[in-house]
Amino acid sequence: MLKHAGCGHNPSSIVSTREGQCALLCPACPQPGKNLPTDWHCAAPEKRWLYAKFVALDANFHLHCKNVSSDQVDPGLSKGWSYFVEETSYEVFIEEHKYDTQERSTCSGHNAVNMADSKKSHGLATTGVGAVGCARHNLKLPCGTGDLQKGRLTLRKLIEAMKASMEHDTKLRELKACIEMPMITKWECDNSKCNPYEIRVATITQASVQLELARAEASELQARNDVSPHPEVSASTLISSGLELEEQQRLLKTDISSLGSHPTDNQLAKLQERTNALKRCIDNWQSIQLLFMPSVARLRDKDVQPGEPAKVEEMKLFLPSEFCDQASCPNKLCEHEWKLREAQAHEALRDLRHFLCLHTHLYKFKDTNVCGQVANTHARTTISQTDRKVSTATEKYRVTRAALFSLSPLLGKEGWEDTLQLLKTEDI
Ligand SMILES: [Zn+2]
Repeated sequence: MLKHAGCGHNPSSIVSTREGQCALLCPACPQPGKNLPTDWHCAAPEKRWLYAKFVALDANFHLHCKNVSSDQVDPGLSKGWSYFVEETSYEVFIEEHKYDTQERSTCSGHNAVNMADSKKSHGLATTGVGAVGCARHNLKLPCGTGDLQKGRLTLRKLIEAMKASMEHDTKLRELKACIEMPMITKWECDNSKCNPYEIRVATITQASVQLELARAEASELQARNDVSPHPEVSASTLISSGLELEEQQRLLKTDISSLGSHPTDNQLAKLQERTNALKRCIDNWQSIQLLFMPSVARLRDKDVQPGEPAKVEEMKLFLPSEFCDQASCPNKLCEHEWKLREAQAHEALRDLRHFLCLHTHLYKFKDTNVCGQVANTHARTTISQTDRKVSTATEKYRVTRAALFSLSPLLGKEGWEDTLQLLKTEDI
């Protein structure tokens, strides 16, 4: 290899070979000092793209290397001279970053990445290989290839880069249609100008609404206007934990229905424990609820069915939206629920879109890549799990929208139905 790269007869010995020196550079990509004009870095802003280099990251999770030897017994011959990175400094880097947790990718295309951590890595020196290459000609970059040490670190970098590129791509497509060209040119020449590609629509989440409500309550506390009947629970906390309980009920219901016809004792035990815990939480919550909404007591009595007690996952919580048309409920509580529900509806829609994309992707992936019985069964299980998530998100959206619908006349809300429309089955 040294001979081929012209380093074999180096008068100062082969030890002076630089990192990556023996790698073949892509002749078609821009290589400073080789195929670029000398003044390339002074090019006018509108010509700079000519000298851009596109790199891509790729990884293989199946290239296992068993832990049967050591560097002492079987040392590597090249010390980062060509495509593989130099081992010692790479290991130092890995050691330094070993506690970084890998952020889960939400992109459906990166399921392999998410699963990389969970795969068996026992007795393996490496679980795969990741490489950086030029995107157009697929020539690997010098020192651009590294082992995946338990699949984690190289991947983290890989995901960061991929994510950035995906984000860029979507934003670009979304916005290209609606931005004026002069704005783009201005920004491309001078990055300090207002960036026309930046998305400025803030998405509402339940967490952000909860924060807003908590802040409002904090200022009420300061002004000593606080009228909360409970020393520790505020009105907004009550409502948001009510919504949380509702969500838990929904999840429990899905998990019970997906149990299959022959559940194991272990599965049943786990579900029973979850049910018990949820029951305790609901009981606690209901006792506090009475302090805020005394009229609920009467409704609860009316709702009691003789005979068997109600199933935990079907217990009625009587949030303001469920009874505001039958009994009185403090306006403030309705207002809190409205705000949280609005955010919840948006979140449910986001989840739904995500799982639908995932579903389509999994189908395509299964058709093109999966063969063999075990893999097929596995793929089918994943798909049916995604299916369940789609229906949970759908149900969540419908329940939330119905709640908004019953609250809206009371609070005089209008126009919300334009964005949060009725979700029909044929739309999914
Ligand atoms: Zn190239």
